[in-house]
Amino acid sequence: MRKLSLRYKITLWFSVALLIVVSFTYISILSVSNQILQKTIRDNLIETVENNYDEFRYHTSLDSTDTDRDNSHFLEFESGYLEVNDDFLNEVNGVYTALYSSESNLLYGENPVSRATYGTPFKDSQIQSIDSEGVTYYIFDRRLTLKGLNGLWIRGVVSEKQGDMQMSTITRISLILLPAILLISCIGGYFLVKRMLRPIQKISETAKQIGQKNDLKKRIELGYGNDELHQLAGTFNDTFDKLDKSFETQRRFISDASHELRTPMSVISAQCELALEKPMSEEEYERALKVISRQSQKMSKMINDMLDFTRMEAGSEKYPMETIDMTELVSSVCQDMALIREKNIKLDFEAEKGIVFTGNRLLLSRLLINLISNAYRYGNQNGHIWVCLNREAQKIHLSVKDDGIGIAKGEQDKIFQRFYQSDNSHSGEGVGLGLSMAGEIARFHGGEITVSSEINKGSKFTVIL
Ligand code: ADP
Repeated sequence: MRKLSLRYKITLWFSVALLIVVSFTYISILSVSNQILQKTIRDNLIETVENNYDEFRYHTSLDSTDTDRDNSHFLEFESGYLEVNDDFLNEVNGVYTALYSSESNLLYGENPVSRATYGTPFKDSQIQSIDSEGVTYYIFDRRLTLKGLNGLWIRGVVSEKQGDMQMSTITRISLILLPAILLISCIGGYFLVKRMLRPIQKISETAKQIGQKNDLKKRIELGYGNDELHQLAGTFNDTFDKLDKSFETQRRFISDASHELRTPMSVISAQCELALEKPMSEEEYERALKVISRQSQKMSKMINDMLDFTRMEAGSEKYPMETIDMTELVSSVCQDMALIREKNIKLDFEAEKGIVFTGNRLLLSRLLINLISNAYRYGNQNGHIWVCLNREAQKIHLSVKDDGIGIAKGEQDKIFQRFYQSDNSHSGEGVGLGLSMAGEIARFHGGEITVSSEINKGSKFTVIL
């Protein structure tokens, strides 16, 4: 059973269920039909006896006008004559009617099973059933109450086998029809299930192809529909989309990282080769070592940032969450960074009191430091930086605004990409990972980061948590 395909299993299950239903139907049809037939037989018996009841007259004496009637029979009875009209029918549809004396002597009519019914007491207007040689007979009696007469009975007898022919016809029809219905339903059901399960087959084939060829661009095409299987295919396609995007990002990140690391690496090796090639003066050695030191610091920052990205993508394990007093965090970072006073830039901050947030202290400080560092880096001489923390519509807003060089409209989307540095960036100082790190930290905390900027007027970065 376990080895059977789902298609066969479903077909088998409902075939068995259908077989049980059909069997019950068959038994019910036979039993109901039998009951109806038996009732019809009994009704027929009563009707025949009642019809014959009126066909008797009693005459104390007979004259010629009576005996001339050729549609009657005359029986001598006691001191008179019993007239039986010709409309008296001995046998109608298997019902035999006969006239008896109360001592069970047959006076008129027919009864082929008189031996079996002999001795059964007469009961007026009541149906009795007797069994004889394995056959059940129904008996219906009526007492004749003719003027001057006593002790005469009309008895009707019919065998229950009277309905056998109809029953066997019903049985035969049921035996042909019901298995035919069962067969048609099973075959139809099999094809229906096969058709219904086709999408699952398609889903598994596509998933297999994706697995074998590593082709995450492939999608499950089920056509139009909104049933559970279409929804399942939709979920798979969404997952493939996400996987594809994430692999793509990873691939790009690795290729960008190796490309970006190559520059400081070649600068370092060029400086080393130059220093080893021929003897140099003390100042020349010092200059070369400074270049090497700056480039290796840049590489080390890049490698650390890349590691942080990977950690954040892997989950929050490395960065445990805690309740943070954001007012205190922003104030202390700003106080420290205000001391930089690079290019004589002044840093002012305003932090609404009592703002708490569940997050990672280290990452949130890093986010703010990155934004303020950029504001210094891309700020003008004697410029200004404003940091503001407040609550708006149940959300925490943290903004860093400067009056520096600003960012062109076309670049505002790109600056959050890893390793992206715009033309006006002071590329020697940064590595193009600061803003993408800030964006990643905001997303890690379930938030987002936006920018509004105008060339030569300044930029404002807002983190919404
Ligand atoms: P970088 O290491 O180059 O600063 P970032 O990811 O921090 O890398 O920034 C990406 C680019 O965004 C920068 O090269 C710069 O052109 C632009 N940028 C970032 N912050 C500012 C700012 N406050 N003012 C103007 N330009 C900015």
